[in-house]
Amino acid sequence: AELARRCRALIRDIPDFPKPGIVFRDITPLLGSGPVFGEVVDALAAICRRAGWRPDAVVCPEARGFLFGAPLAYRLGVGLVPVRKPDKLPHETRRIEYQLEYGSDAVEIHADALTPGRSVVLVDDLIATGGTLGACATLLTEHGVEVLGALCLVELDGLGGRGRLAPVPLHSIVHYP
Ligand code: IMP
Repeated sequence: AELARRCRALIRDIPDFPKPGIVFRDITPLLGSGPVFGEVVDALAAICRRAGWRPDAVVCPEARGFLFGAPLAYRLGVGLVPVRKPDKLPHETRRIEYQLEYGSDAVEIHADALTPGRSVVLVDDLIATGGTLGACATLLTEHGVEVLGALCLVELDGLGGRGRLAPVPLHSIVHYP
């Protein structure tokens, strides 16, 4: 709760970004704080430990997921598997499309990055509708990879992302209504 309070003080609200009516939660001031950024990564690792998750890898979506996935993987002593927007990964990929409020989007993972039977944790900076992390989870489970859980710095509670991700458990450090 103490860490959540200090995080919230370093997350900036940007009204009408990227579109009118959206309040964007800008985490760059938090990333810019050495002590708080470090504590967030330590807290994410501690959540994994307390939950008993022993992943073979950390999986994180482009682009802000990388910012937390990389130090978390290092901290856990495991590898990192990037999930990317279409046509960014150079080798053979598997793709999943998912629905946005208007239209659809897609993400890809290298087909050989994880073999069936491996277990992973997902991490991203923020969960809103859960479209992104839900797509990542489906992409992995369809391939026989076990998703132990998901971690986010920020959860926008009102958008139902947690429900979209279920039954994968989600832990978030900071909540907004
Ligand atoms: P979702 O797919 O609707 O859950 O949206 C989450 C994704 O969009 C994450 O990858 C976030 O990085 C990004 N995102 C959505 N809203 C925000 C925001 O307010 N601040 C930062 N990132 C956001």
